[in-house]
Amino acid sequence: MAQASTIDEVVTNGLCSGCGACESIAGRDKLRMGLSPEGFMRPRLAGHLDRETEARALAACTGRGLPPPVFGPGPVQRMFGRIPRITRGHARDPDTRFRAATGGVLTALATFLVESGRVEGVLQIGVSPKDPFRNEPRLNRTRSDILASAASRYGPAAPLKAIGALLDEALRFAVVGKPCDIAALRKMAATDPRIDRQVPYMLAMFCGGCPNIDSTHRIVRSLGEEPEDVAEFRYRGHGWPGPTYVRTHKGGEHRQSYDQTWFSGMHYELMFRCKICVDGLGEHADVVAGDCWVMEDGKPSHREAGDGWNINLGRTLRGSKLLEDASAAGYLHEEPFSVAELVAMHQDHALKKRSVFWRLVGLALTGRPRPGYPGHRVVRAGLLEASPREAWAAFSGVLVRLFGRRNRESAISAPSDYDTITANDPDKITEEDITCP
Ligand SMILES: Cc1cc2nc3c(=O)[nH]c(=O)nc-3n(C[C@H](O)[C@H](O)[C@H](O)COP(=O)(O)OP(=O)(O)OC[C@H]3O[C@@H](n4cnc5c(N)ncnc54)[C@H](O)[C@@H]3O)c2cc1C
Repeated sequence: MAQASTIDEVVTNGLCSGCGACESIAGRDKLRMGLSPEGFMRPRLAGHLDRETEARALAACTGRGLPPPVFGPGPVQRMFGRIPRITRGHARDPDTRFRAATGGVLTALATFLVESGRVEGVLQIGVSPKDPFRNEPRLNRTRSDILASAASRYGPAAPLKAIGALLDEALRFAVVGKPCDIAALRKMAATDPRIDRQVPYMLAMFCGGCPNIDSTHRIVRSLGEEPEDVAEFRYRGHGWPGPTYVRTHKGGEHRQSYDQTWFSGMHYELMFRCKICVDGLGEHADVVAGDCWVMEDGKPSHREAGDGWNINLGRTLRGSKLLEDASAAGYLHEEPFSVAELVAMHQDHALKKRSVFWRLVGLALTGRPRPGYPGHRVVRAGLLEASPREAWAAFSGVLVRLFGRRNRESAISAPSDYDTITANDPDKITEEDITCP
């Protein structure tokens, strides 16, 4: 078995990234994104899914594979792909820089795109006003709404479930998402020509993987609170990287550092799909932004470092020009940065890339479905770059996971906590958007 042949196979084998493209393509009456029993955003059957509809949804599914990276100018860096423009920088607006995950580059670019009239809005993930743990897709049209969607949400989010409705409305908009969300969008574009016409800019963040919602709840409990008592929750931002922040309905507040949250031995469950991900640095996006960490003893430090700095990668000519224009218009500050510095700082992503081949070998030898990654230099990274120790760790690790059935997830027919779609524009909110069965 090579690739999964049904949506159910994608999901039950842990290959779904939860982007929501299948809901947009199939329609909410057939598939609807919701929280699965495993705490991930997953498609759930909402009606009869006929074969033709399922085939269209599968054509865009990154659980079956990624398209080749977008064609652009410049040489291909063997780990991280084509990078025609690389800088470090930050948003010039101090409030954006403070509230954002890092230096606010994605928020500043989104603001520039709207205020320059290049797009009518930006599809982003924001926090539900009803539930501080729930991430919703929003079409933001103003600076303040874009800023309200800033910062990282290390939990389930399905930005593309909203894209079908936005395309139907003939809107011209940009999209911000994880690299896998943007790869799915490029796949959708192969069969839906509206995407190239209506979505001129695709922006992504560096992504090392996304945990389930239980991981977030565990953070809250480790601070002595219950999730239902929480009124506000931030993973980071309000500084760089900024503290994990909890405010309860009774007004209690907790803050702890990025390292205390993520590197103090707490168990958090990443999607299996993230463990076999080949594209943490967004080779399908126009612009990708990540952390430009302070280096200490040759390693990135996550200690609070004041005002945030991003690494900015222009992946396409259009993305490189966007960075240039946003800087010229006063939205961004940029400074020179090199690919060598990027490689030294984000070794975790290079290791992941070297490991993927061996994880895919584990899937192949056990007859499991696996995504195809044409053009992503996977075989080369695994055979020529990975050390024997890295190869064995990746191969044996995936086997342990597979035989322990730790990649398995419940079927798409399993019950779910249906999620809502919210267009952040009162005119766009329909009764169906806000009331779900
Ligand atoms: C799951 C996850 C994993 C990450 N892993 C890494 C990593 O390995 N290395 C690294 O350097 N940086 C990582 N980051 C990215 C980093 O935290 C910053 O987002 C990035 O540096 C951009 O900073 P910024 O200040 O420009 O972003 P901001 O200006 O704050 O904008 C962030 C944008 O991302 C969107 N967003 C937030 N969470 C999600 C989500 N779950 N799904 C889709 N869109 C979302 C927001 O809506 C907003 O538009 C990760 C972020 C996430 C969400």
